[in-house]
Amino acid sequence: MNAEIIAVGTELLMGQVVNTNASFLSRELSLLGIDVYHQVVVGDNPKRLLEVIEVAEKRSDLVILSGGLGPTKDDITKQVLAEHLNKKLILDTSTMDKISNFFENSKRVMTENNRLQAMVVEGSTVLKNETGLAAGMLLNQDKQAFLLLPGPPSELEPMFIKEVRPLLMDGRPNENHLVSRVLRFFGIGESQVAAELDDLIEEQKNPTLATYAGKHEVTLRLTANGSTEEACHFLLDKVEAIIQQRIGGYFYGYGEDRRLVNVVTDLLNEQNLTLTAAESLTGGSFQHLITSVSGASDYFKGGIVTYSNDAKTTILGVTKKTIEEFGVVSAECAIEMAKKAQEMFDTDLAISFTGVAGPDKLENKEVGTVWIGIATKETAFAKEYHFGKGRENNREKSIMSGLDLIRR
Ligand code: ATP
Ligand code: MG
Repeated sequence: MNAEIIAVGTELLMGQVVNTNASFLSRELSLLGIDVYHQVVVGDNPKRLLEVIEVAEKRSDLVILSGGLGPTKDDITKQVLAEHLNKKLILDTSTMDKISNFFENSKRVMTENNRLQAMVVEGSTVLKNETGLAAGMLLNQDKQAFLLLPGPPSELEPMFIKEVRPLLMDGRPNENHLVSRVLRFFGIGESQVAAELDDLIEEQKNPTLATYAGKHEVTLRLTANGSTEEACHFLLDKVEAIIQQRIGGYFYGYGEDRRLVNVVTDLLNEQNLTLTAAESLTGGSFQHLITSVSGASDYFKGGIVTYSNDAKTTILGVTKKTIEEFGVVSAECAIEMAKKAQEMFDTDLAISFTGVAGPDKLENKEVGTVWIGIATKETAFAKEYHFGKGRENNREKSIMSGLDLIRR
């Protein structure tokens, strides 16, 4: 099977937006063993869009169109395709319900053009949009298939992974089975993963390996091809064993959506532990992240942000002596912050963050020096980190490292 990607959008032609959808789709398709022979970019213009569709359908088995599924005048993709194929646009009721609910919940008035996002080409399989409103579509014709995806990468990427990949994998009954496994790592960079697995990546045929760098974490997708699912799992197990042997120290979990925070919250749930936090340089963002997981009230009791030295002593109860003797960027301060928070909220576990986010040094300590403290009812300890430059980077790495510390 070969595919062609048509990215629709004048903003792409004008260079205002980089065509990341094409590179994402090409990479994903090649992992599925589907060859991409052409990539095309065309503006939001019906006549020119029709021209490229007519060329694509002659030479490609799978024609993928990205963008132009929205409610505005310049969104024309499905209209042009439907007219060309002599098909009607019909209302997809489940998408319509979702859109109505969205407007009801946000107390906004739905305008007529929003109905457009629920209109699909008749005869197509509707693809759910988990992160937006416009539905995607897969339309099988005699000679070729058309796949219509929304333009925003935050919608297109999850839709492809969750809705399209399984369909493309299933649609190959007479061919081999494809099974993927996603491994997630924290504390190691993408280039280091690539270096450690250099030989595997170099020789990769079956399974294939693809690394993705997320924010401060790396995911690795293995995809095996075999006559049965068992055969695929056998191949995956074999390669995973080698990977675990080399970089297993950084491994934290399986799955497309599983973030480090989920590993921690599941752990707290399973072991029935409660948590609190005392934050300085992270300014509450650790607590923000923990409470972004639904059900957080089961294990997260509350926490405190003490940014100034004064707040650390008067509100949290860190002793002046500790701060004067060791400074706030110290193991002693981190431990005391964690202990005080543990007592204050009466939890099983407390975590604290104190350090130099930057851009300036603090207490003559380098930017990026961070102490993370952990206290339980019985013990307490702190660990030192050196993250480097960049205020936001230092704050984010602190939070992620804190999660990693709890998990261990
Ligand atoms: P919406 O409902 O948001 O209008 P849409 O499916 O109609 O979605 P477009 O209007 O074509 O999509 O594009 C919306 C935005 O998505 C663009 O402004 C751009 O930021 C991004 N986008 C579109 N196409 C691409 C692409 N090929 N690569 C990367 N980003 C893209
Ligand atoms: Mg649009």
